[in-house]
Amino acid sequence: MSHEKPSKNEDEYFARRDAELLRQQRDAAKQAAADSERKSHHMKCPKCGYDLITGEWDGIQIDQCTHCHGIWFDAGEAETLIKKSAAPNALGRIFRAVVKGVSRE
Ligand SMILES: [Zn+2]
Repeated sequence: MSHEKPSKNEDEYFARRDAELLRQQRDAAKQAAADSERKSHHMKCPKCGYDLITGEWDGIQIDQCTHCHGIWFDAGEAETLIKKSAAPNALGRIFRAVVKGVSRE
């Protein structure tokens, strides 16, 4: 089998394939960086960066910052709270419990 110089089409094929591989590697690296960035923020306060703790008040889970005491609801939790707040003073009762919770220490 003679060793021929690759045709122009083959050159293009390999160049395209290499570019595609490079693009995939870059995408994978970008994805990995984004994943690790996201993980480093998991259960961290978006305001001050301290740890969030999950407490349960009246069956509703609320994430709260251990430092600035900011409060975070997941979408479903906020919905539950809105439903419960149809009961008189429920919202106030829950928030009083939350505030009492953080000032406990
Ligand atoms: Zn905070």
